[in-house]
Amino acid sequence: MAERQFNRFDSGERRKWSGSKFAPKRKVCSFCVAKAKTIDYKNPSKLQQFITDRGKITPRRKTGVCARHQRTLAIAIKRARHLALLPYVPAHVHHVTG
Ligand SMILES: [Zn+2]
Repeated sequence: MAERQFNRFDSGERRKWSGSKFAPKRKVCSFCVAKAKTIDYKNPSKLQQFITDRGKITPRRKTGVCARHQRTLAIAIKRARHLALLPYVPAHVHHVTG
């Protein structure tokens, strides 16, 4: 039986994306695709795609946004937060357990 040798460099790198809410494979920056030079901070519905349910900015490796746009995006999100268009923290959810 010709088995492939266990490659420890490979094993940790590739995770299954199935069931993940993030992109299954490397995708291009959606802002680059839209040829956006600036990101509108007055558009919370757009920005909400790039924050987690905890109100945090989603890391670049999960959204596929390029470095330049990630920076712009981060500023836009912070501005939107300041204007109360986005939450700093999610609304209080009381988990009723028992
Ligand atoms: Zn980009």
